[in-house]
Amino acid sequence: MVGVERHVVVKVGGAAVGVGGNLPPALDDVVTLVREGWRVTVVHGGGPEISRWSERLGKTARFVAGLRYSDADTVAVAEMALARVGKAIAAGLSAAGVPAVSLGGQDGGLLRAERLRLRDEQGQELDLGLVGRLSEVATGILDALHSAGLVAVLAPVAPDASGQLLNVNADDAAAEVAAAVGAEALVLASDVPGVLVPGRAEPLGSLDAERVRALVRDGVVSGGMRPKVEACLRATEHGVTRAWIVDGRRPGTVRDAAHDRPGAGTAVRGSAPAALAAEREAVLTAYQDLFMPTYSRAPAVLIRGRGSWVWDLDGTSYLDFLCGISVNNLGHCHPAVVQAVARQSRILAHTSNLYHTLPQLETAQELMRLGFAGRVFFANSGAEATEGAIKLCRKAAWRRAQERGEPQRLEIVSFEHSFHGRTYGALAVTRGYQTGFGPMLEGFRELPWDDVAAAEAAIGPQTAGVIVEPVQGEGGVRVASRAFLQKLRELCTRHGACLVFDEVQCGLGRVGSMFAFQQFDVEPDVVTLGKALGAGLPMGAILAREPWGEALRRSDHASTFGGNPVAAAAATAGLRVLREEGLDRRSLELGERLRQMLRATLAGAPLVQEVRGLGLMIGIELTAGQPLGTQIVDACREHGLLLNCTADRVLRVMPPLTVTERELEQGVGVLGEVLREMAARGAAAAG
Ligand code: PLP
Repeated sequence: MVGVERHVVVKVGGAAVGVGGNLPPALDDVVTLVREGWRVTVVHGGGPEISRWSERLGKTARFVAGLRYSDADTVAVAEMALARVGKAIAAGLSAAGVPAVSLGGQDGGLLRAERLRLRDEQGQELDLGLVGRLSEVATGILDALHSAGLVAVLAPVAPDASGQLLNVNADDAAAEVAAAVGAEALVLASDVPGVLVPGRAEPLGSLDAERVRALVRDGVVSGGMRPKVEACLRATEHGVTRAWIVDGRRPGTVRDAAHDRPGAGTAVRGSAPAALAAEREAVLTAYQDLFMPTYSRAPAVLIRGRGSWVWDLDGTSYLDFLCGISVNNLGHCHPAVVQAVARQSRILAHTSNLYHTLPQLETAQELMRLGFAGRVFFANSGAEATEGAIKLCRKAAWRRAQERGEPQRLEIVSFEHSFHGRTYGALAVTRGYQTGFGPMLEGFRELPWDDVAAAEAAIGPQTAGVIVEPVQGEGGVRVASRAFLQKLRELCTRHGACLVFDEVQCGLGRVGSMFAFQQFDVEPDVVTLGKALGAGLPMGAILAREPWGEALRRSDHASTFGGNPVAAAAATAGLRVLREEGLDRRSLELGERLRQMLRATLAGAPLVQEVRGLGLMIGIELTAGQPLGTQIVDACREHGLLLNCTADRVLRVMPPLTVTERELEQGVGVLGEVLREMAARGAAAAG
């Protein structure tokens, strides 16, 4: 099984903090965990400090359902007291050799909260005052601090949408932060040894979701412990594998809990493994009943993703080397994209294209910075971009026929093994998927792949357009030769046909340049984009340089959703990250390294015929076809690595462009192990 970055969120309570003097045990453990290579985020309380300052101001603390009632003065006192506590923690950690910074929710827009509404057993709303629950965590700030080698120490106060500061329960805040950052574990260091029940001296060792709910319902867990167990439960419901309540005053408990060692305190594990397995089965069955059987889906139920990793319902983590088929090129849930989507969905989600919108304009401007000047049409998918591009070729030819009195040219040329989508127009240029769908549209012709002579013989004055993937994806990761693409350019120019490059899969940095064509010294007339364009949201685009950019005019083409503001906001954020972080160059370098690593690891592997590709779009051609390819993909998944098999026998490897070298090594390790096991099994079966 491959290893994911180990990230734990530790909440230290007011009593465990100890302002001044030696580092208290819980923080000592934080230091040890950081030295062991863990990523640690600290969230702190400050109850005693808040109470002390409140009393000085003549205010007595009042608690409702275990939460501190907060009026405006209490929030102001909490802000001040928590800042003092946070600074003391950061100073203590820094002095112990673990540089740390303390932040409140207001700093850099780190946290956002909304008013917490709770009801009592009679259904009456409880008056909690200015108490909130975190609604947003700007995880990018936390990532930046971590990258700079700093431990973040967070105070649980946060503004709501109107800027009103709210007091947030620290356990609750820690749970939300743990879920938002995709932490493996949450540890609540308190001043009790865990969840205690009547008649038992020792705390309960482990609780699943059902047991926690029963304990709360039956009143066995109440008072200050209730928000703690509920916070643990919420964290596990949002993908945190385990949440512990431990006695932070005892040395080693926080560390033991992070390592999941029995005896550390009480562990909350969400649903029991048996319940999760049953839930997964129920999901798979419901899919069979409710969905058309068009896909062969792996038996994984993915609920959460971050960076190069995704998580199954049962907590299994997978290293994602397929990226939703080259969509999540910035990794899962990139903070810049998350923030852009959250922001835009609050402002304006949809307008139709009867109006102008700012997000769409920004995406168009951002696209033009990538090295292909022209006009854009926004669609919602790759297939739609293909449809639009074919219509563009035909309409341009029609206009020329009208204007110049030429005979109408109709023919659209595509190539063997190509994949341009599944709608009828796209299917017309995707021969391999036409069975049973005839009659097809007329005027389409398929030529052999990468065959200069065949192109020369077939493309002529009857050709309206030529569509080609510079690097074929579904067709088995085949890189076109420079001579072939240059010949297509020459022929289209000579005969007045439109040259369309389908960069839906290979564009936007995937093969090591913003556009794939940039690596072949050929400029097409039209480029289609999709997949990674929306950074996880559905979006496609047709880019066309002049004069092709004016071929489709008013009412010639349209889409209700095309360039939808939320998708556009995601696209702009994603494109900026791509450009500003130079991920195209990174893809080129890492792709080269990955191919070297694969060749070195797989050298002599009897099942592998060739490792090929460009940038981080890599194909491993196997010596035999299905079902071997599927078996390898399944075995990799069982070992925690996601990839797929295309064109029957080509394993397709497309990690995020943000993948780390260590993750590449982990992925190659799994693949090597699986291929060796398969080869050994095959040899044993043959022997
Ligand atoms: N063009 C290429 C090169 C593709 O790889 C794909 C999808 O795999 C498409 C077009 C179709 O895109 P979509 O599935 O978004 O319709």
